[in-house]
Amino acid sequence: HPPLTGTSALVTGGSRGIGAAIARRLAADGADVALTYVSAEERAKEVAEDIRALGRRALAIRADSASPTEPVEAVHRTAREFGRLDILVNNAGIFPAGPLEELTPDTIDRALAVHVRAALLAAQAAAGHMRAGGRIVTIGSNLADRVPRSGITLYAASKSALNGLTKGLARDLGPRGITANLVHPGSTDTDMNPADSDRADGQRALTALGRYGTPEGIAATVAHLVHPDAGGTTGAAFTVDAGANA
Ligand code: NDP
Repeated sequence: HPPLTGTSALVTGGSRGIGAAIARRLAADGADVALTYVSAEERAKEVAEDIRALGRRALAIRADSASPTEPVEAVHRTAREFGRLDILVNNAGIFPAGPLEELTPDTIDRALAVHVRAALLAAQAAAGHMRAGGRIVTIGSNLADRVPRSGITLYAASKSALNGLTKGLARDLGPRGITANLVHPGSTDTDMNPADSDRADGQRALTALGRYGTPEGIAATVAHLVHPDAGGTTGAAFTVDAGANA
């Protein structure tokens, strides 16, 4: 049997990029998979179709991570429709980059809502459904640990907050046998950060391997952390950035 046979997972922001790769990988590993999206409905349905083609159940749920309620509703709906919830992957993200002087309270609130509040609320709701062996994985960024250029203060701050969130969850949920871990991608080829943009060569130059990461490469690390054998790993962060932070 594939390792996740009989389990149920929710991936936020699963319509494109890293989240779509994670959703497909968890399904290939045996899980029924729900994914959220905010606007790319057709892309979300395509990912759901790919999951069904693997023989798993799939759900595409419109849920805005900027909302205080929709991420929680997505968790409850996943648990209800699949009958259980074993894995939560907090992946939905935005990239609010720009000059410091142009940051507004609304921009700041939105980034903190999507990256931090949604992840915490979804984890809180998911923990209510999980049994021992439950897994929470959050997608951070290597920019949480090292900020190599200007214009990304808000993004770095919002991703850095996930370090504390993950360690706190590990302590809150450890007694129940549920793990919480963080994966920090580096430059990864997606719509958010295409490997052929005019900013790509500068990012490649920062890496030890001289290359971008792939969504599938990030998904492989998530697959490891949610594997039944990874129950001894919690409160930890894993950087998958081609050595950019080395
Ligand atoms: P993409 O822009 O390619 O995809 C973003 C995904 O998140 C989409 O599925 C999108 O849904 C969803 N999303 C965005 N905003 C919301 C929202 N308000 N509510 C619900 N879903 C939302 O990004 P990536 O795949 O590149 O990024 C995935 C994660 O990885 C993010 O957290 C990002 O910060 C992080 N990351 C990415 C890096 C990179 O270089 N690509 C580097 C480091 C971290 P929809 O399709 O409906 O818009």
